[in-house]
Amino acid sequence: MRLTVLGCAGSFPGPESPCSAYLVEAEGFRLLVDFGSGSLSTLQRYVGLHAPDAILLTHLHCDHMLDAVSYVVVRRYAPDGPYPPLPMYAPSGAPDRLAAAYGQEGSSVDDVYQFYGLQPGTFPIGPFTVTVDRMNHPVETYGVRLEHDGRVLCYSSDTAPCDSLLRLAQGADLFLCEASYLDGAENPPDLHLTGREAGEVATKAGAGRLLLTHLVAAWGSEAHTLESAAAAYTGPLEVVRAGACYDV
Ligand SMILES: [Zn+2]
Repeated sequence: MRLTVLGCAGSFPGPESPCSAYLVEAEGFRLLVDFGSGSLSTLQRYVGLHAPDAILLTHLHCDHMLDAVSYVVVRRYAPDGPYPPLPMYAPSGAPDRLAAAYGQEGSSVDDVYQFYGLQPGTFPIGPFTVTVDRMNHPVETYGVRLEHDGRVLCYSSDTAPCDSLLRLAQGADLFLCEASYLDGAENPPDLHLTGREAGEVATKAGAGRLLLTHLVAAWGSEAHTLESAAAAYTGPLEVVRAGACYDV
């Protein structure tokens, strides 16, 4: 598998990156996981406007889904379009939410997306074996485990510490984990992880490599987040950047 980070800013676009969006590729199949604010720009810069073969939205917070609304225009009104419906795996409210955000009363985006409602479990998307489970976050949110050819990539989405994240990350070769909050600062319960907590999950899960994401540049400290994660996890560790690629 190859992971390309299209966006990694937490909560709102940062000066150096759009919000969460990750392209995962295997056997020429491209799965876009999350499609946060601004990431339609880096999709074009790094892979191409029509690159995704399928999309998976982990939850319906703006910083993980809003550019799937802008993408309606891309598919529906392309000079060589309209393009056929794109498989879209998402929480059950996605069809109504995307249509409402698109803004035309009574409109639908069913001509652009073929929706599949997420539920905890394992299922195929293209060449990937995908396992999703509910995370500890205020809205219906799924962490994701992608397996291909014996390799495992786990993505936390947004979550506070929870057993289901630990299960999903078990033995992952690459663990892409949010680290939104700073240790020592005030951390509301059931919302996000700190660098230390991300490191603790990675250690318990036996993850081979930890990539920290979803830092909030305006409010956080990358150095502090890295330091606290490194105190809890001794394996290879870094904070991701938009445009970075990783072979899993
Ligand atoms: Zn969220």
